[in-house]
Amino acid sequence: MIGEMTPETATKDAMTANDDCLRQLIDQAKQQQMFLEMFVRSWVDDYRCGGGTVHCGKGCRNCCSLAVHTGFAEALAVARQLSVEQGMKVADYAVKLRDLARGVSELPHYLRLHRDEMGFCPLLNEEGACGVYPVRPLTCRSLISTRESVWCGADFTKVAAAERDAFLAALDRKVVSFPSHYVAVLQESGKELEEAGAQLMRSLLGFALYGNLGVLAHLCLHHDLAGAALEGRDRAVSVIAQAGFDHPLLLTVS
Ligand code: SF4
Repeated sequence: MIGEMTPETATKDAMTANDDCLRQLIDQAKQQQMFLEMFVRSWVDDYRCGGGTVHCGKGCRNCCSLAVHTGFAEALAVARQLSVEQGMKVADYAVKLRDLARGVSELPHYLRLHRDEMGFCPLLNEEGACGVYPVRPLTCRSLISTRESVWCGADFTKVAAAERDAFLAALDRKVVSFPSHYVAVLQESGKELEEAGAQLMRSLLGFALYGNLGVLAHLCLHHDLAGAALEGRDRAVSVIAQAGFDHPLLLTVS
């Protein structure tokens, strides 16, 4: 009979709906990244025209030693681009970070450990460039530096007081997210876009996931976190816990 629902067509329809959910999330993330990219370019042009200096450029990579946290859709888009070799590097990174974060409960401690022990992002390639540049997340795109790159990886607890004071005094307070040297409005814009991504995930799947890029990408690649997310919050939480990544500084489910 024409139009009769069989188990096969029901399964196919469910798979199509699932694919559509993930596609919507990734499409929105890509649009947001393009929007932020245009905003960043236009802001930097204006700032330079007004006499300001932006130090980000090709070969500059010190910010890639910071912990990168992102929404689920952006991490899934990254995971889907990775080669086998990149996937292995991401897995090594995630497992090392998981073990390092055990017993750590304070964010400053986590960030310091990450900077000191984890080295560069596993997606940084041998030429010192981003290995996933076209799909790099909002948080990477929004980090625009008004000071030399050496400050992007600096540990201020190890900087002499006089040097730190000189750094702070030279910041352009009209534009930076003081006391950092990164442009505030671009970081805020990135955060707003991330929140819009989280809202779409909540409306489609009933919950949102946010966390460390390497950890999320690893879970998508090697533990089918995307498939689990489509089954609902409880299933996603269970997959995260089984893999040992149920740590609030690594991942949050909201
Ligand atoms: S994703 Fe790319 S830009 Fe972002 S930290 Fe990693 S290597 Fe750097």
